[in-house]
Amino acid sequence: MARVCPVCGRSSSEVPFVGGLCRDCYIREVGVARLPGRIHFVYCQYCGAYRYQGGWNRGLDTVEDTLVEYAHMVLSRRLRPTRDVEEAWVEDVRLERPFHGPGIYRLLVTVAGRSREGVGLTQELVVEAKVDAAVCPACTARITERGYEAIVQVRGSGGRLSDRLRGEVLDFIGGLDGRLREAIIKIDEVREGVDLYVLDHTSARMIAGKLRAAFMGRTIDTYKLVGRRPDGKRRGRLTISVRIPDIEPGQVLLVGGREALYLGRSRRGGLFVDMRSGTHFELDAETLWERGFRPHPGGAPERRVMLLSRSGGTYVFLDADTGYQRVLEYPGEYVHVYTGRLVEGGLYRAFLAGRRLYIIGTVEETGY
Ligand SMILES: [Zn+2]
Ligand SMILES: [Zn+2]
Repeated sequence: MARVCPVCGRSSSEVPFVGGLCRDCYIREVGVARLPGRIHFVYCQYCGAYRYQGGWNRGLDTVEDTLVEYAHMVLSRRLRPTRDVEEAWVEDVRLERPFHGPGIYRLLVTVAGRSREGVGLTQELVVEAKVDAAVCPACTARITERGYEAIVQVRGSGGRLSDRLRGEVLDFIGGLDGRLREAIIKIDEVREGVDLYVLDHTSARMIAGKLRAAFMGRTIDTYKLVGRRPDGKRRGRLTISVRIPDIEPGQVLLVGGREALYLGRSRRGGLFVDMRSGTHFELDAETLWERGFRPHPGGAPERRVMLLSRSGGTYVFLDADTGYQRVLEYPGEYVHVYTGRLVEGGLYRAFLAGRRLYIIGTVEETGY
């Protein structure tokens, strides 16, 4: 039997019904869902973070996007479907006027729902947003350069961090993900290396761990009590020293007392060649530090050699350091080439270890 809408008089054969009313009258008289009339949004004027449930969270690219996202989240949580609506949700949130800083905004909110009988409903509601600007704790710490709880000190294995590594470390820090990057309130380039002032212990440990993994480093933590917080809890300052091996690909080292050619960083740590046996080996950072490493001591027999000829599996070089007087002849299997392709007449940096010859670089033509 057809139902008749008591408000507009239309029948259920003409329009879908929700409860005792036609859909249009239900939406107009009852509504799809209840929303709070006003929400409060506080954002950091420096970094765009926003407050939520007592904490600060990272914002999106623009404050306007963050406000819309925040409204969507808060309104979704606080939305209550009306009596004959089975479920309802926030479909869209828009600002009536473009964002221009703190103030009162009208949000146009589209809510959608479904009645118990499966009829779809949508309605546009207006919610007021009170928007305030503030300064988040991270930015307060950055601005005052106080409030850090940890220092990460990056140093080289030989003490001072080389300029090359310093550059790589700074690039790496610049590429950290936003939350970690923002926990660093100050980067201090000191003579010995780089000091990072970090808001909290957890972030400092994560940053130090990432540096350790990326640079085959070793970390040492020291913890010092520096007083008590206003709430009586102990306050400690954590210092993490990150030591980075100051070694370069193509460099000859003593690793655990053995001559080793460092080829570069690998997935698990570093890749080396044992120069006596000619075999490759990989060491993770921990093992490298455990075995100990240092540059090959002074007088390392690095030479400059010129390839004279290669035929029948035999290489013939001239020793450039003796005025091309000495001839060095090697069977192919004892020549290890770690630089591009050898060409006859080319001048190379070479390293002699036992019966083996390692070609570890090209000598720039200039100057010879
Ligand atoms: Zn009606
Ligand atoms: Zn901030």
